[in-house]
Amino acid sequence: MAQGNGGETVKHKEHLDWIRSNDPVPKDGQASAFIGWKSTDICMDLTCTCGNQSHICCHFAYYVECVECGAVWAMAQHVTATKLEGERLAFVEEEYSMVIQRDET
Ligand SMILES: [Zn+2]
Ligand SMILES: [Zn+2]
Repeated sequence: MAQGNGGETVKHKEHLDWIRSNDPVPKDGQASAFIGWKSTDICMDLTCTCGNQSHICCHFAYYVECVECGAVWAMAQHVTATKLEGERLAFVEEEYSMVIQRDET
């Protein structure tokens, strides 16, 4: 990213910090993930506070506008994860083994 002047950099950081301050906070001991919307082929249904549902399929989902009321939403970047154990883990390994993702870097 190109370096702007100091003022722009501070504003940009303040903006991102503000958005992140609204992200859901994982509880103690809860696993969580940080989503980089820029490189994520996302398919999601957004329910706006006006009641409209938008179906969004894209690669950049940081900001989503409701076509019904014009509200623009900043998407949260933290999601939580639930550990699978016992019978539930066995079920997922049986039914979803092809889509269990791992870090292969
Ligand atoms: Zn979709
Ligand atoms: Zn709306």
